[in-house]
Amino acid sequence: MSDTQKQPDAADRMPHSKLAARSNESAAGNGRGLDHAEGTSHPIRVAPEPQPRGAKVHGKRPIDQTEAAGRFIDAIQHETTHDARLWDLRSKRDRQMHIIPEWEQLRELASAIKEHTLTHLDTYLDQFEQTARANGIHVHWAKDAEEHNKIVHGILRDHGTKSLIKSKSMLTEECGFRQYMASVGIEVIETDLGERIQQLDDEDPSHIVVPAVHKLRTDVAEVFSRTIGTDPENSDVHYLAEAQREATRPLILNADAGMTGANFVVAETGSFVVCTNEGNADLSANVPPLHIASIGIEKLIPRLEDLAVFIRLLSRSALGSPITQYTSHFRGPRQGGEMHVVLVDNGRSARLNLNEFWTSLKCIRCGACMNTCPVYRRSGGLSYGATYSGPIGLIIDPTFNRHKYSALPFSSTLNGSCTNVCPVKINIHEQIAAWRKVMSENHEMPLMKKAAMKAAGAILAHPRLYRAAITTADAALNALPRFMIYNRLNAWGKQREVPHAPRQTFHSWYKQNRGTP
Ligand code: SF4
Repeated sequence: MSDTQKQPDAADRMPHSKLAARSNESAAGNGRGLDHAEGTSHPIRVAPEPQPRGAKVHGKRPIDQTEAAGRFIDAIQHETTHDARLWDLRSKRDRQMHIIPEWEQLRELASAIKEHTLTHLDTYLDQFEQTARANGIHVHWAKDAEEHNKIVHGILRDHGTKSLIKSKSMLTEECGFRQYMASVGIEVIETDLGERIQQLDDEDPSHIVVPAVHKLRTDVAEVFSRTIGTDPENSDVHYLAEAQREATRPLILNADAGMTGANFVVAETGSFVVCTNEGNADLSANVPPLHIASIGIEKLIPRLEDLAVFIRLLSRSALGSPITQYTSHFRGPRQGGEMHVVLVDNGRSARLNLNEFWTSLKCIRCGACMNTCPVYRRSGGLSYGATYSGPIGLIIDPTFNRHKYSALPFSSTLNGSCTNVCPVKINIHEQIAAWRKVMSENHEMPLMKKAAMKAAGAILAHPRLYRAAITTADAALNALPRFMIYNRLNAWGKQREVPHAPRQTFHSWYKQNRGTP
């Protein structure tokens, strides 16, 4: 604020002088309580709720998703908006599903194509390498994130690149690519609006399709006012989007190189496909003369005709729209240009060897499992403290670091909704349960949880003990003072109320009405 601007005092903050007078009259009047209209003595504009930040990282200690989720749930505007936005996507997805009679067949087919490809991955990767090279594409292989970053850096260095425009790619998030590029002095500019917001706010994406979905527009107004100089009081979405476009377009036009990921890679044709709604991948690929595509090896499909199955499923599952605005096919460098593809493993081959978890490689990153998950919707993606969040994250993240992400598989209700919506039919909730078993067997469970599970196991294994415990628990819940139930030891009761215990258990009802069970 400049020196010439006056700090508002209490009177300035009153919406209207007449309201101030009425309010004062009432307060000094006959002592009766203020009615609703008279009580307008506070500013109408409520201060924007600060954005809750993601999970805290404490060295090598496991990420505490529940702590970060608790802070997100406490930020009521964020939590309710996030929940509503994602449920809206889920509802739209359902509407699209209902108008396609062969929806289930498509899911079956997609799952089978992925299964076939993953079980013949070496063959299809070799085929892609040959066809892509024949198309004039330079093909590179990266065994891990570090090698990926070095390969890309090498290409950029050889071309004297100072700035790189990039479309959204979870793989590059996985590789810590932006941070690496910053360390070698190359500027990376995200071209996807949500990803750009997250980049300017120095935050990771919170969702694999809608990276800034956890932010309110007031949060975006704050980020843009701080970074590109917009009016902090103006959170109009058109204004913000236009301002961002104006700020980023010159950077795009002057970039030395462009980078994309890929949604699908066709072995037969040596081509790859990128689906976006903003056309930003096309800018990244077509404006600068050099195009680099970083692609996870699981993105392969055998034939071009297989593509139609996935294209029909992807956008419908992700956003509830029939197709993405842009479905761009890249088959080779344009005239005078150069195209490189970096095929990245980064733990995928190892995952392919995990009996219970290998089918997670079928994932086409639609985000439908996140949109439907009650835990994800209410806790926000950043609470997971990992590249991948939501149900698919609970399966993938521990394959990168079992100890660090050991608590994540417990952030699920195991209701199976994720499995029901998955377009490639991954048995997500069963894999989450399988990870819990792995964590337990490897002593990766918090002590309190382990003790609680042990006690529950002992009770559930003995029906008489269970029935006695249920009867006592009913009585105790009704009689105990609140602080005995809601305290630090009861993490479950932190953000929810223990439901009223029914007067009669099903067991006693059955015994009473149907005789001996
Ligand atoms: S696991 Fe299935 S639902 Fe979840 S993002 Fe992947 S493809 Fe979509």
